[in-house]
Amino acid sequence: MNKQKKSSGGRGIEWTDFTWNPVRGCNHACRWEMPDGTVAECYAETVAERVAQHAYPNGFEHHYWNPHVLNEPLKLKLPSRIFLDSMSDLMGHWVPSEEIDQVLNVCRQAHWHQFQLLTKNAPRLWEFDFPPNVWVGVSAPPSFMFGRRLSHTQQKRMVKRQVDVLSQVHAAVKWMSVEPLSFDIAPLLKGAHLQWAVIGAATNGPKTYQPEPDWVENLLQLFDDEETAVFFKGNLDWPSSSWREDFPALPLSESDLFSVA
Ligand code: SF4
Repeated sequence: MNKQKKSSGGRGIEWTDFTWNPVRGCNHACRWEMPDGTVAECYAETVAERVAQHAYPNGFEHHYWNPHVLNEPLKLKLPSRIFLDSMSDLMGHWVPSEEIDQVLNVCRQAHWHQFQLLTKNAPRLWEFDFPPNVWVGVSAPPSFMFGRRLSHTQQKRMVKRQVDVLSQVHAAVKWMSVEPLSFDIAPLLKGAHLQWAVIGAATNGPKTYQPEPDWVENLLQLFDDEETAVFFKGNLDWPSSSWREDFPALPLSESDLFSVA
């Protein structure tokens, strides 16, 4: 597992303590079009093709199963938030169900941790029973998947589908990563009653593109109405007086929720 550096300007993922990747590689080929027309590729793909090339000898689109890391959460005794599969999509259609079951079994055994699962293939969530310590989340649609552009209508349809699937999945925490927030997504999430949401700006290398303030306001209004906890990514330009870094309320004691951050 990789501990996330969040203090002193570290480049880690702010909303988690560790990333854990029993499955690696992804063939969703997500891309995001920036407001200036440039296109950003998936960050995990960039990492896999550059600094972590040795771990992806057959490229990022290949499926890698790493059973040797399965017991890592069990060895970590300090209750932590663990982002499940930052370098893949565990619910990807190519991932064998037996592997997913093994991963979820470890989550079940490591009941003192909170596992943060995120997918762009929501319908596959129907196939599994999630332990109460797995937060089941979906990501806002990118501009391109599988090498094809998603029209705005297709993006909206994807969000509706995600909300529909989440409403039928049994999970203690249902959540959404709205990063980047690239259109006014709030009307599509009405009634989703998520427990948690992460909101962020778009980035392409060192360049950041802020969402329209109205899009953020509309989301905050909806999430406040539906009692959804909100976490702002550090790349969002937002007044510190109304900054949010909240996590979902869990039926656990404070000590269980103690974070290593
Ligand atoms: S699903 Fe995640 S890991 Fe896969 S290409 Fe998209 S952003 Fe990257």
